[in-house]
Amino acid sequence: MISANDLSLTTWLNISKKTDFPIQNIPFGVFSYENKPPRVATRIGDTVIDLFLLANEGLLQVDPAVFKQSNINDFMAKGKSLTSAIRNQIASLLAEGGNPALRNNKTLLGEAFYDLSEVNLLMPVAVGDYTDFYSSREHATNVGTMFRDPENALLPNWLHLPVGYHGRASSIVVSGTDFHRPKGQTMPAGADKPVYGACKLLDFELEMGFVIGTPNQLGTQITTKEGEDHIFGLCLFNDWSARDIQKWEYVPLGPFLGKSFCSSVSPWIVTLEALDHFRIEGQDQSEPEILPYLKYEGHKRYDIQLEAVLQPEGGEETVISRSNFKNMYWNMCQQLAHHTVNGCNMNTGDLCASGTISGTTPDSYGSMLELSWRGTKPVQLNDGSERKFLKDGDTLILRGYGEKDGVRIGFGEVRGTVLPAL
Ligand code: MN
Repeated sequence: MISANDLSLTTWLNISKKTDFPIQNIPFGVFSYENKPPRVATRIGDTVIDLFLLANEGLLQVDPAVFKQSNINDFMAKGKSLTSAIRNQIASLLAEGGNPALRNNKTLLGEAFYDLSEVNLLMPVAVGDYTDFYSSREHATNVGTMFRDPENALLPNWLHLPVGYHGRASSIVVSGTDFHRPKGQTMPAGADKPVYGACKLLDFELEMGFVIGTPNQLGTQITTKEGEDHIFGLCLFNDWSARDIQKWEYVPLGPFLGKSFCSSVSPWIVTLEALDHFRIEGQDQSEPEILPYLKYEGHKRYDIQLEAVLQPEGGEETVISRSNFKNMYWNMCQQLAHHTVNGCNMNTGDLCASGTISGTTPDSYGSMLELSWRGTKPVQLNDGSERKFLKDGDTLILRGYGEKDGVRIGFGEVRGTVLPAL
């Protein structure tokens, strides 16, 4: 039986060596073509494959109905043993020396294969609930240093639990969805009363998100050992933020309207299995020692290179940050164990984001707030202009991939453009 994780596997399709989507990836997403209803798909190179047609032809051992959907929730809910097997069956159909049933079926090839450029990629998951964590020590330290006290940058709870807040699911959009600069209430510096108007300090946050495949019952916990059974896969996540709105509103209950106007996800959910190659040891959590329910075994942190790119309207791209998913103090299984330690139930399609992922050096910070150090050090762009925060017309792009033994498994990108306030 062929495994999609076999790094020596090659495909009979002609794909670029530099692609984020080799045969070892096999992500899941949703597309539409012309006026046809949405279908669940995978992607290899720049080819999008309609999985309903493959399953309906009997080439995948699953009820075809799970792919005749506008999201991947039904498929994810089937659980790891099935979804993992389907991923391997897809790899086999696309592999040199694998199952020839698809390769030999010219009619099906004509019907099920699309070029990326001719389809619309849709929101892959119906997100029920969305939670945002705050798990990069460098990011939390930077923010604490700027807004509170450099000597006590981390609040007392930070090294004991994965801090998070409940976000807004309704405004999560797929890559390519532009949004208007949000409006709201802010307190200008030196003023004695707040004003209403367009956000002046619009920011991005370089994050990754993970999607829940199978739920837990209300009242039960997901342990760090069980976490990976419930995590279907990951995406890139841009948690757009209105810093001036956030600063005025967030005390004492945390982020609210400064966050809920828009968050963007990449269109392909890359399975946890595909990222197996990039596991690394976790950060040291011995000082202070963490509580037993947050302890874990094995390698649950991931080495995934991330970058943030800013493209002014009509201009060229500038890479403004290079970070890595390994800059996480708390891993996904710890986040999930903490999220459910009180008996909170997670549902299929719930999305948890990492929080801004910043590294130790200023060129690896994951937000304009940190890159421009609260506006005191403008970021230089390749076209000669500079930015403290985002301007109307700016496009922000996040990209990410892991690389091992010459095989690159990536996420593609998530992009969005800031439109003027309405
Ligand atoms: Mn965030």
